[in-house]
Amino acid sequence: MSGRSFNRFGVESGVKKQPTTQLEVKTLLNQIQRFVGFVYHSVCLRGVGTSRRVEVRIHPHRGIRGKCSTCQQPCPGYDQLAERRWLFVPLWGIVVHFFYPPRRVTCPTHGVGVEHIPWSQGKRRVTTAMMGFLARWARRLSWQETARTFQTGWATVFHSVEWFVAWGLAQRPLEGITAIGIDEIHWGKGQGADRFLTLIYQIDGHCRRLLWVGPRRTQATLRKGLAALGPAVLGGLRFVASDMWKPYLTVIAAQIDHAVHVLDRFHITRHLNQAVDQVRRGERTRLGEAPAAARLKKMRWTLLRRGSRVRGQARIKLNALLASQLATARAWMLKNSFEHFWTYKSFVWGGAFLDYWTERALRSRLAPMKRVARMLRTHEALILNWFKAKGEISTGPVEGLNNKVRVVTRRSYGFRTYKAMELALYHNLGRLPEPETTHYFN
Ligand SMILES: [Zn+2]
Repeated sequence: MSGRSFNRFGVESGVKKQPTTQLEVKTLLNQIQRFVGFVYHSVCLRGVGTSRRVEVRIHPHRGIRGKCSTCQQPCPGYDQLAERRWLFVPLWGIVVHFFYPPRRVTCPTHGVGVEHIPWSQGKRRVTTAMMGFLARWARRLSWQETARTFQTGWATVFHSVEWFVAWGLAQRPLEGITAIGIDEIHWGKGQGADRFLTLIYQIDGHCRRLLWVGPRRTQATLRKGLAALGPAVLGGLRFVASDMWKPYLTVIAAQIDHAVHVLDRFHITRHLNQAVDQVRRGERTRLGEAPAAARLKKMRWTLLRRGSRVRGQARIKLNALLASQLATARAWMLKNSFEHFWTYKSFVWGGAFLDYWTERALRSRLAPMKRVARMLRTHEALILNWFKAKGEISTGPVEGLNNKVRVVTRRSYGFRTYKAMELALYHNLGRLPEPETTHYFN
């Protein structure tokens, strides 16, 4: 054995071709990724250690002409360009490249041009199979982790997801959408207008997904989003759920007035919770080090939960707070009593309860609660629409999707750019169809 060395694949160093290995990898490639008109010519393992890589050389199939990249018609050859390289799906964790010298063809319609290359898109240096592979992993790992794991750069992962999402958006079906939810969320740091996003979800029972996302939360944003869905989708809508955000209300009234517009439970509960939280924070500041302040300590999350879901030790602490006559206790009781509203079956009784509740809240001397009460009064008609939509739409999905959006925007914190985050949201929540040729690898 002296003078000869073998790596862990049994390939002798310095020996370029090892017939057994070649055949097996070629067979594998032919099984999983075959391109009509092309053949796998050779497969070589080069380098050592972390620079080890597999080189796959592709040749045109003898007797099959190259196709025009525009019309896909076989055309006479013109000349051949220098060899180019494409990144393919890693094999046993080893980087794999395709090598091929593209031909130029003369198309009677489109003139001389580079032939159609079935494993590639445009001028990209990454095969579509690899783009699909990276894009799928980019849902499970952060983009940085995906890049590191598969020995490529962040930009390659970004462009892979970009391609994957663009394909999915172009192919996705938009039929049968009857209910949408419109929501805004905050992302990143600061409170500037650019720190908000407008989201449009489909909230039908059979399909819940993100339909559109855009920067800011203005009238113009929502108009752009509705225009992107198109008149056919808007015409088919029966229900629209949204928050009480004025720009949204204005646009919905103008553009989707044939649908029942509902101010939903999720959003109203959110406003009530925010008000309780404001009262609590104000009261803590006011009480300072007074003994009563102890009752408010570590109560934030308990107070934000639905009353019926507070149990055990948290319930004991909550009961003690409720007995205390603190402003926070009164605010919480007002919030909790609003839950009754959702149990009414009749529009009339629901309306009567709303009057009664807002009356109490307006007399509460709790500024944040009074603000919610005034908002509810202003939008009474839209809130009572909830009874018209009852049983037809559930706004649980808005809440669920909203939570998932937060998971994505938080994970993508390193994205910095809006574009990257937009892609990640469609990628994770859009239920987009996927290019079929990339299915074999995950
Ligand atoms: Zn052509």
